[in-house]
Amino acid sequence: MANGNFGVCAGCRQQIMWIRTRAGKNMPVNPQMLSYRADPSGVEKIVTQYGDVVTGVTGVDPEQADGIGYISHFATCPQSRNYRRKRA
Ligand SMILES: [Zn+2]
Repeated sequence: MANGNFGVCAGCRQQIMWIRTRAGKNMPVNPQMLSYRADPSGVEKIVTQYGDVVTGVTGVDPEQADGIGYISHFATCPQSRNYRRKRA
């Protein structure tokens, strides 16, 4: 089945894209493709076109990038607090 089903975030109504990760989980991402560099100390979760979830940084120079991916919508969603449960 092809990746890349578009949808709308129930929280903020922005367009999102669903990507199926290798773990078989559907993950909402922002539809913009970004070049990323894998970095275990990075603050972003990037999902590649192939469904790999990578920790790293985006906005890197193309020659320094490891590839192209999408960033988790929850990282940028203004309504994401509604999805997260508080932990005591
Ligand atoms: Zn949203």
